[in-house]
Parts: sequence; structure tokens; C-alpha cells
Amino acid sequence: MLTQTLGFPRIGRDRELKRAVEGYWKGEVDREALAATAAALRAEHWRMQREAGVDLLPVGDFALYDQMLDLSLMLGCVPERYAGRGEPGLETMFLMARGGVGVGAMEMTKWFDTNYHYIVPELAAGQVFRPSAGRLAGELREAARAGYAAKAVLPGPFTFLALAKTAAPGLDKWSLLEPLIEAYEALLREIGRECGWLQIDEPVLVMGLPGTVRDRFRPVLERLRGAAGKARLMLATYFGGVAAQADLLDGLAADCLHLDLVRAPEQLEPVAAKLPKDCALSLGLVDGRNVWRADLGRALALGRRAVELVGPERLLVAPSCSLLHAPVDLAAETALDPEVREWMAFALQKCGELRLLADALEGRDVAEALGENARIMERRRSCAKALNPAVRDRAAAVTPEMTARRSPYSVRNEEQRTRLDLPELPTTTIGSFPQTTEVRAARAAFKAGKLDRMGYEQAMTGFIRRAVEAQEAAGLDVLVHGEPERNDMVEYFGEQLDGFCFTKNGWVQSYGTRCVKPPVIYGDVSRPRAMTVAWWEQAAAMTKKPMKGMLTGPVTILCWSFVRDDQPRSATCRQIALAIRDEVADLERAGAPMVQIDEPALREGLPLEPENRGEYLDWAVECFRLASTGVSDATQIHTHMCYAEFNEIIEWIAAMDADVISIEAGRSGMELLEAFGRFHYPNEVGPGVWDIHSPRVPGVEEMVGLLEKALRVIPRERLWVNPDCGLKTRDWPETEASMRNMVEAARKLRRPKA
Ligand code: GLN
Ligand code: ZN
Repeated sequence: MLTQTLGFPRIGRDRELKRAVEGYWKGEVDREALAATAAALRAEHWRMQREAGVDLLPVGDFALYDQMLDLSLMLGCVPERYAGRGEPGLETMFLMARGGVGVGAMEMTKWFDTNYHYIVPELAAGQVFRPSAGRLAGELREAARAGYAAKAVLPGPFTFLALAKTAAPGLDKWSLLEPLIEAYEALLREIGRECGWLQIDEPVLVMGLPGTVRDRFRPVLERLRGAAGKARLMLATYFGGVAAQADLLDGLAADCLHLDLVRAPEQLEPVAAKLPKDCALSLGLVDGRNVWRADLGRALALGRRAVELVGPERLLVAPSCSLLHAPVDLAAETALDPEVREWMAFALQKCGELRLLADALEGRDVAEALGENARIMERRRSCAKALNPAVRDRAAAVTPEMTARRSPYSVRNEEQRTRLDLPELPTTTIGSFPQTTEVRAARAAFKAGKLDRMGYEQAMTGFIRRAVEAQEAAGLDVLVHGEPERNDMVEYFGEQLDGFCFTKNGWVQSYGTRCVKPPVIYGDVSRPRAMTVAWWEQAAAMTKKPMKGMLTGPVTILCWSFVRDDQPRSATCRQIALAIRDEVADLERAGAPMVQIDEPALREGLPLEPENRGEYLDWAVECFRLASTGVSDATQIHTHMCYAEFNEIIEWIAAMDADVISIEAGRSGMELLEAFGRFHYPNEVGPGVWDIHSPRVPGVEEMVGLLEKALRVIPRERLWVNPDCGLKTRDWPETEASMRNMVEAARKLRRPKA
């Protein structure tokens, strides 16, 4: 029984790739040195996987910046504005990824429901593809020279088109399917000569295909299989199940189908029933998206069922998806609590689990290793560090009253209006202010023990004062303290909550050379003490204006962490919600008239399969309400969301019942507003009028224009004025100028007081 991975992290054990690429950008690393580092990393990653027991090694999963960008280049799908600027290879690629003099970067967005960002392919009217598989063919030869049986990996045409955007208005991207398939055929003819297996990733299948192209799926796959020649074709699906797409699997023209049996174990039976007799099945039994050691007993039960269903000869064992989303090697984590550490497995350790599973399924004697795994699972289940009976009791005792405000919005609004006495179109910001070098240096010095607590707090107080004074000077109505004490909006809370731990080197790629080290939720979550109240009190004492409390919401904390896999995510989220609820209560008690609970990741947690979305939205919204509704009517609850498609979940956003939502509108602009208008969003809204991603200062008239548009769909009594998102990446001069303009824009549109 073969083992395989669908992809491996490319950043390197010590983020060598990041350093090489950034060095190249700075001119400190030359082209040859960069190529050498990349080749050395590929070789090292194949060696690591092989030594851990992986048979089929992925080639083509490596990318200097992003695999979708590489695919655009392989297809010759390069927007006009980048073509002919410098030589076509490396320079063009980085220009597309990052922009350059006189040309912006291509759009980037999240890869399905992960926190990995890919470069969005861009299609022009009459798009001509110029396929060239040179890079991938070269890497395949590289692997062959090193003596590995290689499998070429590339995202498939349906996923490519589903994720692409059209630059030409009115162009239906699916109309480009035929020329795209021809390009793929050309690529596959070239690549098929260099390898035994060809893996085509079609995660989009999990979401379903648009009705107009559904019929094309099976014939297209047949053509691809033909083009692959003697190489066998593997269709990889992941991030959910494809049982609902069973009609597409009828007579599937593939030599192997990969299933994510971690996210969707229930698909095994129905899909196996459909599987053509000559098609192998790759069982995604090990979670590729977390840091946990697999429960081999559970995985084996599923594997054994697969043996019964299709026989052992046709099975492969694999992680659920590419290991890109897991950190590289647990060996580096020498500082973790050993009790918790033994529950973990990073990418390399997961490769070892595959071999064990395959051996067990083949009937080899691995009883000892399985016994050890079972003992670890048992220790994990009974570990007192992870168990907090008080938290469990409390979560079990949540009543419906705890997830609803005392009165409806209309009643609350009256009270809040009287209490706050805000002008029409009140102005505010989203929370963070410029994280200058001084701010970062003070935090780093404190963390390193070079600055004592008093010195640190004094420094923070200074930054808070600076932020408050700037907001007063600009004339804002609702102030924030500026979040100088927060390195990251999730990490900050994770560090103060019980049930979280942090790795030393558990980096995963977020985009390009940017890596993140998500907190790990390993046990029951609780809040030993208030987390933000002292900062809020300080800030509130500096001004007569209302000061917003500032928290990260439970769903976002969940989505941006590695979450324990031994209970439903909803149960973990509910525990976090209770902790945030207590923080909200403490802020209210301290006198905060408003508390903002950010949920920018709410959309990202949405399951890809349409049929599973309702259940998620139910508990996600409930958790937000559990966190936010414990307050009196006079306390105003804000939330904030950004950089995602919110139109389709607007009813659920309304169901969160925040008094005010500030929402990024730069990206989807009018569309978002139309959705709010069409739906008659019942509470207050602040659509962002200032794009915080650029140092450009938006003009007064420009913002007036956006607000006028907003006023066409949102009644003026319910419209707020704010930027798209937090200002942490900005500098002070442009921030101050932009705030002044924003306040000026709001004032221009206010009616004189009666
Ligand atoms: N309050 C956070 C900030 O302003 C919100 C960030 C976010 O939405 N990602 O930085
Ligand atoms: Zn935001």
C-alpha cells in the first residue's frame, strides 16, 4: 500500500525560503544563490518525506511565492501590464506578486477556508494561454536525478477558473474553459513524459461546480487523462466531501481519487460505491491542517472499512490535504510542555503516521506503535491540564437568554442615543493605530526582559496618549486606545487565556514570504483575569469623548488558531465566547459605554460544502451573541468585519445583533452596500470609506462621495463613518491627515442640529 503526500511546506525548517527570497528582493542574494536555496529546500523536503516513509513524493508543490501564481505563469496567463517588463521569468513573477514602479500587485485572497493567500489569476477578454511546463518538468528531472519516484502536482482547470477573476467587465470566465483545457492538455503532454503520476487538485469540487459547466467535468477529465499519456492521473479533492457531487464521479476518468476523510469521513461509503473498478482510492486519514497527532485507532477503523469496500490493492494512505498548512517539524519545539507536546505532530511527523497506517492496513505487525499511540490518546483524554470542569459545566448550562440582548435594537438604540449624545454620522476608527518602530521595540524589549513592567507600561501609556490626542485633534466622536500592547489580535488574547500554548517555530506560510505562528488551543479555555480593562481605563481617563473597548471575537480567535481536534469546534468556540463575555462584563462595569468585538474571520470559517453552512453559521452567530449580549441595553456593542465576501451571509450578520457594525467596503464597494440595502440591515452600519492598505490620504470629496452612495441605501440615523480596517500598518502623518479629512467629510453631510 503506497503512502503519499499532496504537498509539503516549502518555507523550510527555519524559514530559509523567506530569508532567501527577501534577501533577493534586497539585492543581497543573487539569482543563482536563490535558485540554489530553492533546489536545496526541495531536495531536503523530498528526503525528509522519503525517510519518514512516504512513497509518492510531490513535485510542483514548491513555489518561491505562490503555487497559483506559478500556475498562471505556466499557463502563460500574465496580465498585459506585467508582460514585456524585464525578462519573463523571476522578475515578472515577483512583479505580479508585489507590484513595482508604476504597476500594482495582483490581487491576493484566501485559499478556500485556509489562512493561506494565493495570487488571484486574472483573465482578459479573449485571453490567450501560452502553456509552458518548463519549470515543473525541470523539477521533475531534479527529483528523478535524486532517485525519487515523483508525482507532478498542479491545481486543476476547474479550480483555476473558479478562483480566477476577469479583468473585462461582462466576461464570463467559464467561456474560457475550452482554451484553458487545451492549454492544460499541452502542459500535461509535456509533464506526463517526466513522471509516473500526475496529481490534479480540484478542491473546488467540494463546493460544487456552476450548473453551466457541470456537464463538462467528466469529458474534460477524460481529455486530461488522455493528455497525461503513460502517467497515471490522480484527482485530488480536499477541505470537504464530494458525496454530493457523486454524479461527477460516475465512470470517473482517473486512475486515483483522493478524498479528505478528516473533514468528511462520511463520504467514504457513498463515494466508494461509485468508484470505477480501475480507479484507486487515496485515503486522506491524517489531518493536514493542524498540529495534532492522529488518533490512529480512529483512522484505522476508517481505513479498514475502505479495505472492505474496495480491497487493499487499490488503496493509498495520505494526509487529508497538502501539508502546506501545518508547521514543518515538531523536533524544534523543545520548550513546549512535554505533556502537551506528545499530543502533537507537524508535517514531518504526519508523514510517519502515514507509513504506520499503511503498514497496519496491510496487516504488518505494528501493534507496538499503535499501542503507544493509543496510550498517548488516553493520556490526552484524561490530562488534568486540558480539563476544566467549571468551564465545561458553565458551557453546558448556557441558556437561550444568555444569547440574546434584553431588548430589541429599537429600544436599545433609544437608551444608547440618550447616553452617548453622538452627532449624526458619528466618526470612529477600527481599533489599532500605527505600530511604529518605537511601539514594536518597546513590546519586544519587554518580552525579552530588557524592559521592566513599569518601563513597559509607561511606554504604552505614552503611545495611548499619542493616539488619544491625535483622535481629539482630528475631531473624532468615538475614540479607541490604539492597541499598542497587541502584537496580534488573536495572540494577545491567547497569551492571557488558559487552554492556549505557543510554539517556538510553528510557522506556516500565510502569503509569499509572510509566515504566521498561530496559537494552539489544547485545552478548555478560560480567563484567569481581565485582559484589556486597565488599558481601556487609562485611555478613557484621557478624554471626555466615549472610549470603545476593543476585543477579538470568539469565532476569529478560533479560526486563527490551531484548534484541538478532540471535541467539536463549536464546543471550543463556546468556551472562548464565555471568556470574552466576562471581559465584556468587566469593561461594562469599568464604565465602557461601548465595546467592539471584532469578527473579521467569521466568513472564513464557513464550510465549503453548501449543505454544511447553516450549521456552522448557527453556532458561530450564537457564540458571538454569547460573548456580546450579557450587557445592559445602554451599552453599545460594535463588531467589525473585513476582506471577505459578506453579501451571501448578510442575514447571519444581522442575526449577530450588534448595535453597530463597521465593515470594509473598499474591496466589494457598492455591491456590499447594495446587499445591505436590499436586505434592509436593521442596525447601524459603518461601511469603510478609507482604504487602509495604502499610504494615500483619501480626499474629503472622495469620502463624501462614498458616504452619499451609502446614504442611498442606509438611513442617515444608522450610518457611521470609519476606515475599512485597523491602522496598524500605517504611519502617523497620513493617518492624521486622513482622519481630519474623514471628520470633515462627515461634517459636510450632517444636517444642522434642530
Ligand atoms: N481591531 C483590529 C485593528 O484595528 C481589527 C483588525 C482586523 O480586522 N483584522 O487592528
Ligand atoms: Zn478589519
